[in-house]
Amino acid sequence: MAAQAHESGARRATRLLIVGPQGSGKGTQGVRIAEAFGIPAISTGDVFRGAVAAGTDLGRQVQAIIAAGDLVSDELTSKVVRERLEKEDAADGFLLDGYPRNIAQVRDLDAFLEGRGEALDAVIELSVPREESIARLSLRAKEQGRTDDTEEVIANRLAIYERETAPILGVYRTRGVVDEIDGTGTLDEVTDRIVGALEARGLIRTAAA
Ligand code: AMP
Repeated sequence: MAAQAHESGARRATRLLIVGPQGSGKGTQGVRIAEAFGIPAISTGDVFRGAVAAGTDLGRQVQAIIAAGDLVSDELTSKVVRERLEKEDAADGFLLDGYPRNIAQVRDLDAFLEGRGEALDAVIELSVPREESIARLSLRAKEQGRTDDTEEVIANRLAIYERETAPILGVYRTRGVVDEIDGTGTLDEVTDRIVGALEARGLIRTAAA
């Protein structure tokens, strides 16, 4: 079936969102899943960090906010995402990582997708115990030297996650699109769990994970 759909060119678009606290491994898993389903991984954090590194206007606007672990305004973030989703490579689907991050952004994304007659097919909720998230973030701080991986900023980001981001899962749950995935174990184990859940929804992989 999967092969037939692919050969006839009738492969449906796959629109995904991955949600999880910082340190849950969502960035790494997001890239793997996007590759497996042949869609671009769109990480707002990466877009913002890239803009800061390149010294663009956007980068100058968001630099201090990111360094403090606070959220960039909904208006600016939603505009950046809309512009990215309008690019050709996102026409056949996409995996969003880090957006939407609060209820207002869910509404912005809904309005954008509804305008195109689209909706998210699945929301992957990556669950990792808090202690493990913190341990992973501290390790990443040492390895990558990110300015937002200091202890104080990590605590701020986790608090914002619980207060603002976790509630978006309630909204998506009522739509029946959330797959809660255990994020502990090896990278491959977690990827296999996610792929299994997406395939169970009838989503079609285009490459080995
Ligand atoms: P991340 O790599 O997803 O943890 O994002 C790094 C930082 O970028 C966050 O701490 C925020 O400052 C900013 N950021 C990323 N995505 C969003 C978003 N959807 N809304 C507001 N700020 C964001």
